[in-house]
Amino acid sequence: KTPVDNYYTDLKLLTNRLPARQRFAHKGTYGHALLLGGSYGKIGAAVLAAQACLHSGVGLLTLAVPAVGYTVAQTAVPEAMALPDVGQDYIGELPNLKGYSVVAIGPGLGQQPDTLRVLEQLLRTCPAPLVLDADALNLLGSNRHLLALLPPDTILTPHPKEFERLTQPAHDDYHRLELLRAFCARHRCYVVLKGAYTCIGTPTGTLYFNSTGNPGMATGGSGDVLTGVVAALCAQGLAPLDAALLAVYAHGRAGDLGAQQIGQMGLTAGIIAAHLGPALEELT
Ligand code: AMP
Ligand code: MG
Repeated sequence: KTPVDNYYTDLKLLTNRLPARQRFAHKGTYGHALLLGGSYGKIGAAVLAAQACLHSGVGLLTLAVPAVGYTVAQTAVPEAMALPDVGQDYIGELPNLKGYSVVAIGPGLGQQPDTLRVLEQLLRTCPAPLVLDADALNLLGSNRHLLALLPPDTILTPHPKEFERLTQPAHDDYHRLELLRAFCARHRCYVVLKGAYTCIGTPTGTLYFNSTGNPGMATGGSGDVLTGVVAALCAQGLAPLDAALLAVYAHGRAGDLGAQQIGQMGLTAGIIAAHLGPALEELT
């Protein structure tokens, strides 16, 4: 067995990793994120990721959605620029990627063949750090030959079911961590394996277990919010490991702050997003 090098991510481990806002900053200072997501009936997932991204300090955000989501995006997230896709109900064309500091894809994306082609082209051509979640991962899981195209240092944020589709069913939790270490090493990527005590795997085999969050976060849209946070921190220039560690911690902490106010059962993804500001402040 390989030696293990594991950490528990608490406030002490994470202090001094999130730079404070600079006095003479402008929106260009904090990066431009491109978020691709949404399909008919699941535009909300893209909206939640976008709101979370904006609540996490991104300078500019462009939200690419299928045409059916254009008015929704402009109405629900007026702070973001909306980019309507040629596809009516799902994304069918890759936008020009020039000028973005990060690209995130997945929330509400759907798994249409046209969208698969977009994902493949993205993997082949993306010039910026890449974040993959939800249906982007499911598409990879059912087209595993595409895993060879993953750019190094890509961040993937699967829940256990999505991770299983990327690899194989785990016999138990320990086996799942072994699979996680092997996957991260093989594809030189960072994997955020979500759940209670979310585990972040790294290309070198180190694992980080997150200390924040609560079962109130087991609710639709919760993971889409995390995608937005990861994207925002990457856009601001954080290295992928710091972006993943800080995003997961702040997302869980935002869930804890939200639950303090309205209870775990009352918690919604939107409320998690609304508490990201105070959660991130604690890290600066
Ligand atoms: P998803 O399944 O993609 O919506 O992601 C769910 C999100 O909620 C992840 O960030 C999980 O870490 C978080 N979450 C779900 N259940 C729990 C739990 N029991 N305790 C802490 N966090 C949780
Ligand atoms: Mg999800």
